[in-house]
Amino acid sequence: MIFISAGHHNKDSGAIATGYIERDLTKEARNIIVQNLNLKNVIQDRDFETNSQYQRRIKPGNGSVVFDIHFNSGPPTAGGTECYINQNHFADKNSLSYKMADEICKTTSRILGIRNRGVKSENQSQHPRIGILHLGSGISVLWEICFISSVLDMESYLQKKNEVLKEVASILRKYDSQK
Ligand SMILES: [Zn+2]
Repeated sequence: MIFISAGHHNKDSGAIATGYIERDLTKEARNIIVQNLNLKNVIQDRDFETNSQYQRRIKPGNGSVVFDIHFNSGPPTAGGTECYINQNHFADKNSLSYKMADEICKTTSRILGIRNRGVKSENQSQHPRIGILHLGSGISVLWEICFISSVLDMESYLQKKNEVLKEVASILRKYDSQK
């Protein structure tokens, strides 16, 4: 089972920059990915739910993939893609979370032509612990697609979003079938 979420919800815009609202971009990205998945194997967040309501509702077991979508934000010159995984999975470079995150970073960097900032542990984020990466799922990855604050990243994303999101959907399908 794939549990996919848009990171933000109706009452939480996420980052706002360069004329874009993170929530709107992550909802669209989630929807495009879901269109490329078999709906029988997908559970997604509802846009009126808060993140904690969604996290309490779902019960992903060891055989599941949890995937949360965000955009990064920073100074205008910062750019690139990155993925976060929990500390335990990060400590094991052979964990499926690490492998899936690595594949998503490489694929995004290649298709969008942006920097690969790599796989990071949750404690390298602005939070010491990221709740959605600790729901008991065998694979959990938080994807920062690119920088909403970067004109170059966004230009490339808007041109190639269908291609990159379709590829990411196929990576999710592949890892879901391995669990
Ligand atoms: Zn976000």
